[in-house]
Amino acid sequence: MSVAFLGLGNMGGPMAVNLARAGQRVVGYDPVPMARDRVFAAGVTTVEEPGAAVADADVVITMLPGGGHVLDCYQEVLPLAAPGALFLDCSTIDVADARAAAELALVAGHPAVDAPVSGGVVGAEAATLTFMVGGEDTAFTAAEPYLRLMGARAIHCGTSGAGQAAKVCNNLILGASMIAVSEAFALGEKLGLTNQALFDVASTASGQCWALTTNCPVPGPVPKSPANRDYAGGFASGLMLKDLGLAMAAAEQTGTTTALGRRAAELYAAFVAQDGPARDFSAIITAIRDGSLD
Ligand code: NAD
Repeated sequence: MSVAFLGLGNMGGPMAVNLARAGQRVVGYDPVPMARDRVFAAGVTTVEEPGAAVADADVVITMLPGGGHVLDCYQEVLPLAAPGALFLDCSTIDVADARAAAELALVAGHPAVDAPVSGGVVGAEAATLTFMVGGEDTAFTAAEPYLRLMGARAIHCGTSGAGQAAKVCNNLILGASMIAVSEAFALGEKLGLTNQALFDVASTASGQCWALTTNCPVPGPVPKSPANRDYAGGFASGLMLKDLGLAMAAAEQTGTTTALGRRAAELYAAFVAQDGPARDFSAIITAIRDGSLD
């Protein structure tokens, strides 16, 4: 038996490699040949059809761009999968899509969990991801040993869709807090404060948060933050925009008032339109400084 890994991109590639390094027989599929070549060189068997990956697998892991990809992929591979194989989706997708995907799997006789991640490409490479898991207790118990090989923590958040719910709520906090931290630096600069002075105060006072202390949007105070390399790498603005969109869709579906979340989504949409989706999401400070988002 083996682990089928579908989606070998920036996140899925290193996750599949970590499973192989831990001794699992991993069969990977991605439609992009370069993605397959990268993991093949690191010990993952690769195939050119998803059916060939899932045929002998007792676990099928997906790490795909969006909900449509996951639902299409499940429709395609469920009829080809080994009986009873566990389906484990790590992509960040809509709560409703996650529940629909799990239902497709359950109807076909497969246990399923949603297990989106926090930690980014660095966490995927270092196997230090945090997994937020939604599904039945037995499915979580079956998934946990695999999650432990790819990450540092796996938190069982509830039934199907609960992992995605935790992910969108977390990233709602993250998007809004990055904007607040960026506005504070922009204001501090205008008031004559050095960035280091504001950092020294806020990082040890009530303004403390991850957006400030780990992913600081100005170069200097946190030497490894993306700001020190012109915002290359890190968590792309386009992905933050996607996650805020998922949060706003969930807010609409549930009738939740999220005024700050909606404004954060608007600001990231404006920022991605002018700067593109690729730079780290902390680059929004450059547009806040020059006032171009208003
Ligand atoms: P990516 O675009 O680098 O990788 C996605 C891969 O899926 C691509 O290589 C694509 O070719 C492949 N793919 C598309 N359809 C497929 C199919 N039917 N079967 C197999 N492979 C298919 O994206 P990523 O950065 O790896 O992100 C993957 C997911 O993880 C997204 O949902 C994203 O929101 C989430 N995520 C990303 C990060 C990050 O920092 N990059 C952090 C947390 C969560």
